[in-house]
Amino acid sequence: MPMNATSNSLPLLPGVLQGLPDGPLKQSLETQEHHAIWELLEAVTDPEIPVVNLREMGILRAVRQGPNGLEVVITPTYSGCPAMGQMEDDVANALSQAGVAARVITQLAPAWSTDWMTPEGRDKLRAYGIAPPVKSACAAAANAQVVSFATRKVAGKGLVERETVACPQCGSDNTTEISHFGSTACKALYRCLKCMEPFDYFKPY
Ligand SMILES: [Zn+2]
Repeated sequence: MPMNATSNSLPLLPGVLQGLPDGPLKQSLETQEHHAIWELLEAVTDPEIPVVNLREMGILRAVRQGPNGLEVVITPTYSGCPAMGQMEDDVANALSQAGVAARVITQLAPAWSTDWMTPEGRDKLRAYGIAPPVKSACAAAANAQVVSFATRKVAGKGLVERETVACPQCGSDNTTEISHFGSTACKALYRCLKCMEPFDYFKPY
Protein backbone atom coordinates (compact mmCIF):
# COMPACT_ATOMS: atom_id res chain seq x y z
CA MET A 1 0.00 0.00 0.00
CA PRO A 2 1.58 3.33 -1.02
CA MET A 3 1.76 5.51 2.05
CA ASN A 4 1.39 8.76 0.18
CA ALA A 5 -0.76 7.82 -2.77
CA THR A 6 -2.82 11.00 -2.80
CA SER A 7 -0.04 13.58 -2.73
CA ASN A 8 0.65 13.83 -6.46
CA SER A 9 -2.76 12.87 -7.78
CA LEU A 10 -5.22 14.99 -9.70
CA PRO A 11 -7.78 17.04 -7.78
CA LEU A 12 -9.82 14.62 -5.70
CA LEU A 13 -13.12 13.50 -7.07
CA PRO A 14 -16.20 14.20 -4.99
CA GLY A 15 -17.18 11.24 -2.81
CA VAL A 16 -20.33 10.61 -4.77
CA LEU A 17 -18.27 9.62 -7.82
CA GLN A 18 -16.42 7.09 -5.67
CA GLY A 19 -19.71 5.66 -4.40
CA LEU A 20 -19.04 7.01 -0.92
CA PRO A 21 -20.98 9.64 0.98
CA ASP A 22 -19.28 12.96 1.68
CA GLY A 23 -19.39 14.28 5.20
CA PRO A 24 -20.15 12.77 8.63
CA LEU A 25 -22.05 9.46 8.82
CA LYS A 26 -25.01 9.17 11.17
CA GLN A 27 -25.57 6.13 13.34
CA SER A 28 -27.49 3.55 11.30
CA LEU A 29 -31.15 2.80 11.88
CA GLU A 30 -32.49 -0.71 12.44
CA THR A 31 -34.34 -0.53 9.16
CA GLN A 32 -31.19 0.19 7.20
CA GLU A 33 -29.29 -2.36 5.21
CA HIS A 34 -26.32 -3.92 7.04
CA HIS A 35 -27.48 -2.39 10.33
CA ALA A 36 -26.03 -5.26 12.38
CA ILE A 37 -22.61 -4.65 10.88
CA TRP A 38 -22.77 -0.91 11.52
CA GLU A 39 -23.73 -1.70 15.14
CA LEU A 40 -20.86 -4.15 15.46
CA LEU A 41 -18.39 -1.56 14.16
CA GLU A 42 -19.58 1.05 16.68
CA ALA A 43 -17.22 -0.75 19.10
CA VAL A 44 -14.13 -0.18 16.95
CA THR A 45 -12.35 2.87 18.27
CA ASP A 46 -9.61 5.12 16.96
CA PRO A 47 -6.26 3.54 17.91
CA GLU A 48 -4.93 6.92 19.06
CA ILE A 49 -8.09 8.30 20.67
CA PRO A 50 -9.88 5.34 22.29
CA VAL A 51 -12.95 7.35 23.37
CA VAL A 52 -14.03 7.96 19.76
CA ASN A 53 -15.13 5.23 17.37
CA LEU A 54 -14.23 5.05 13.69
CA ARG A 55 -17.67 6.19 12.53
CA GLU A 56 -17.57 9.25 14.80
CA MET A 57 -14.11 10.06 13.43
CA GLY A 58 -15.50 9.84 9.88
CA ILE A 59 -13.02 7.03 9.11
CA LEU A 60 -15.66 4.34 8.57
CA ARG A 61 -17.24 5.32 5.24
CA ALA A 62 -19.45 2.49 3.99
CA VAL A 63 -20.75 -1.02 4.48
CA ARG A 64 -21.81 -2.28 1.08
CA GLN A 65 -22.34 -5.28 -1.13
CA GLY A 66 -19.37 -5.67 -3.46
CA PRO A 67 -18.93 -8.01 -6.42
CA ASN A 68 -17.36 -10.65 -4.13
CA GLY A 69 -19.40 -10.15 -0.97
CA LEU A 70 -19.66 -7.58 1.78
CA GLU A 71 -17.17 -4.71 1.89
CA VAL A 72 -16.36 -2.33 4.71
CA VAL A 73 -14.71 0.84 3.45
CA ILE A 74 -12.46 2.93 5.66
CA THR A 75 -10.58 6.13 4.86
CA PRO A 76 -7.72 6.72 7.32
CA THR A 77 -7.27 10.16 8.81
CA TYR A 78 -4.27 10.77 6.62
CA SER A 79 -2.26 8.49 4.42
CA GLY A 80 0.91 8.72 6.48
CA CYS A 81 -0.90 7.93 9.71
CA PRO A 82 1.04 5.25 11.60
CA ALA A 83 -2.25 3.85 12.93
CA MET A 84 -3.53 3.13 9.42
CA GLY A 85 -2.66 -0.58 9.38
CA GLN A 86 -4.00 -1.01 12.88
CA MET A 87 -7.39 0.45 12.01
CA GLU A 88 -7.74 -2.00 9.13
CA ASP A 89 -6.75 -4.89 11.43
CA ASP A 90 -9.14 -3.75 14.17
CA VAL A 91 -12.09 -3.66 11.75
CA ALA A 92 -11.13 -7.04 10.26
CA ASN A 93 -10.84 -8.56 13.75
CA ALA A 94 -14.21 -7.19 14.88
CA LEU A 95 -15.84 -8.66 11.78
CA SER A 96 -14.19 -12.08 12.04
CA GLN A 97 -14.89 -12.34 15.79
CA ALA A 98 -18.57 -11.83 15.01
CA GLY A 99 -18.40 -14.39 12.22
CA VAL A 100 -19.04 -11.80 9.50
CA ALA A 101 -17.34 -12.48 6.18
CA ALA A 102 -16.43 -9.10 4.76
CA ARG A 103 -13.44 -7.47 3.13
CA VAL A 104 -11.93 -4.33 4.59
CA ILE A 105 -11.08 -1.82 1.89
CA THR A 106 -8.86 1.16 2.63
CA GLN A 107 -9.82 3.95 0.27
CA LEU A 108 -7.61 7.05 0.15
CA ALA A 109 -9.65 9.21 -2.25
CA PRO A 110 -11.53 11.35 -1.52
CA ALA A 111 -9.12 12.18 1.28
CA TRP A 112 -10.42 12.15 4.84
CA SER A 113 -11.27 15.57 6.23
CA THR A 114 -11.70 16.73 9.80
CA ASP A 115 -15.11 17.99 8.57
CA TRP A 116 -16.19 14.31 8.49
CA MET A 117 -15.99 14.03 12.29
CA THR A 118 -19.45 13.86 13.80
CA PRO A 119 -20.64 16.42 16.39
CA GLU A 120 -20.66 13.69 19.08
CA GLY A 121 -17.14 12.71 18.08
CA ARG A 122 -16.04 16.34 18.56
CA ASP A 123 -17.73 16.45 21.98
CA LYS A 124 -15.98 13.25 23.06
CA LEU A 125 -12.64 14.60 21.86
CA ARG A 126 -13.13 17.77 23.91
CA ALA A 127 -14.17 15.75 27.00
CA TYR A 128 -10.99 13.69 26.53
CA GLY A 129 -8.92 16.89 26.70
CA ILE A 130 -8.21 17.35 22.98
CA ALA A 131 -9.48 20.51 21.29
CA PRO A 132 -11.52 19.40 18.24
CA PRO A 133 -10.56 20.81 14.85
CA VAL A 134 -11.92 24.22 14.02
CA LYS A 135 -14.12 23.77 10.97
CA SER A 136 -13.00 25.08 7.62
CA ALA A 137 -14.67 28.37 6.74
CA CYS A 138 -16.69 26.96 3.83
CA ALA A 139 -18.03 24.05 5.85
CA ALA A 140 -18.97 26.43 8.65
CA ALA A 141 -20.91 28.64 6.25
CA ALA A 142 -22.76 25.64 4.85
CA ASN A 143 -23.84 24.44 8.27
CA ALA A 144 -23.76 27.49 10.52
CA GLN A 145 -25.59 25.95 13.48
CA VAL A 146 -22.85 23.35 14.02
CA VAL A 147 -20.21 25.97 14.79
CA SER A 148 -20.18 25.70 18.55
CA PHE A 149 -16.40 26.20 18.68
CA ALA A 150 -16.36 29.50 16.85
CA THR A 151 -13.89 30.27 14.12
CA ARG A 152 -12.60 33.73 14.82
CA LYS A 153 -9.80 33.96 12.31
CA VAL A 154 -6.87 36.07 13.35
CA ALA A 155 -4.66 37.48 10.64
CA GLY A 156 -1.19 36.13 11.18
CA LYS A 157 2.07 37.06 9.55
CA GLY A 158 1.95 37.25 5.76
CA LEU A 159 -0.56 34.86 4.27
CA VAL A 160 -0.80 32.63 7.32
CA GLU A 161 -4.17 32.63 9.00
CA ARG A 162 -4.53 31.33 12.54
CA GLU A 163 -7.67 30.00 14.09
CA THR A 164 -8.75 30.61 17.64
CA VAL A 165 -8.64 27.29 19.48
CA ALA A 166 -10.75 27.07 22.63
CA CYS A 167 -9.25 25.36 25.70
CA PRO A 168 -10.96 21.96 26.24
CA GLN A 169 -10.59 22.36 30.02
CA CYS A 170 -12.03 25.82 30.67
CA GLY A 171 -13.31 26.96 27.27
CA SER A 172 -11.15 30.07 27.14
CA ASP A 173 -10.17 31.44 23.72
CA ASN A 174 -6.98 32.79 25.22
CA THR A 175 -4.70 30.01 24.00
CA THR A 176 -1.38 29.84 22.22
CA GLU A 177 0.39 27.26 20.09
CA ILE A 178 3.52 25.91 21.74
CA SER A 179 4.48 23.38 19.09
CA HIS A 180 2.94 22.66 15.71
CA PHE A 181 3.48 18.93 16.32
CA GLY A 182 2.09 17.50 19.54
CA SER A 183 1.89 13.87 20.69
CA THR A 184 1.26 12.85 17.07
CA ALA A 185 1.78 14.61 13.73
CA CYS A 186 -1.95 15.32 13.36
CA LYS A 187 -2.07 17.27 16.61
CA ALA A 188 -0.49 20.54 17.73
CA LEU A 189 0.47 21.33 21.29
CA TYR A 190 -1.30 24.35 22.78
CA ARG A 191 -1.35 26.04 26.14
CA CYS A 192 -4.29 27.85 27.72
CA LEU A 193 -3.22 31.24 29.06
CA LYS A 194 -6.18 31.33 31.44
CA CYS A 195 -5.95 27.99 33.27
CA MET A 196 -2.34 27.45 32.11
CA GLU A 197 -3.04 23.82 31.13
CA PRO A 198 -1.32 22.46 28.01
CA PHE A 199 -3.55 20.51 25.61
CA ASP A 200 -3.52 18.80 22.22
CA TYR A 201 -5.32 20.43 19.31
CA PHE A 202 -6.50 18.14 16.51
CA LYS A 203 -5.46 20.15 13.46
CA PRO A 204 -8.04 20.58 10.69
CA TYR A 205 -7.27 19.35 7.18
ZN1 LIG B 1 -8.07 26.67 30.01
